[in-house]
Amino acid sequence: MRKKIVAGNWKMNENLQEGIILAKEINTVLEADKPNCGVVICTPFIHLASVAQVLNKSLVSLGAENCADKEKGAYTGEISAAMVKSTGAEYVILGHSERRQYYNETPEILKEKVRLALDNGLKVIFCCGETLEEREAEKQNAIVKAELENSVFNLSSTDWENIILAYEPIWAIGTGKTATSDQAEEMLAYIRSIVAEKYGREAADDTTILYGGSCNPGNAAELFSKPDIDGGLIGGASLKTSDFKAIIDAWKK
Ligand code: PEP
Repeated sequence: MRKKIVAGNWKMNENLQEGIILAKEINTVLEADKPNCGVVICTPFIHLASVAQVLNKSLVSLGAENCADKEKGAYTGEISAAMVKSTGAEYVILGHSERRQYYNETPEILKEKVRLALDNGLKVIFCCGETLEEREAEKQNAIVKAELENSVFNLSSTDWENIILAYEPIWAIGTGKTATSDQAEEMLAYIRSIVAEKYGREAADDTTILYGGSCNPGNAAELFSKPDIDGGLIGGASLKTSDFKAIIDAWKK
């Protein structure tokens, strides 16, 4: 059966000391009141090794927000998948729209990143989603399908077991504008159907698919009540322990 997951994406927030405090807080509240879903926090690279020391791994897993598209060598400033893994991180977010948009990450680059992440034993949270213009032109299904076909549908069935998908409509990220639970469910059911076409029904039923985009304590339970929504990728609300915990607790309703 597929895993329910709530994953935080800290983005470029919190200095090292603040990040350690936040991670400790999240760990403490989850130790006091155990989650009934998987919890992941994805932090900036510089936090990973320190945050790994303060997390109870049986309750909270650690992830990075990116990794390089090269294995190793003369790529000044880059962080490889192997380096990420060596910190104790288990996950990496790839394909986030902010990386595609601001850092020109193409489908080909993402394909390389996914390959290297998997080869180094990381699980990939792979993001996809359309812009507002694309949704208004009713192109959202075609856009999402192309994003998956061009970067992850080349993977073997064995590799697929380490892929988590996150549908994040770009118009809903950090805007306070959430997709309705029906819109999110419609897209996640569509994504599951194309995963089934590619990898078979059983693999599709086992694939964790998250919704992301202004998910908060007020809308999480409604979103998570939908049959194809297996949890959330949480940006802004993952920076406040009480909000992140409330979203995790939405799985208890
Ligand atoms: C994200 O960027 O992954 C995200 C979902 O952000 P927010 O929750 O802030 O919309």
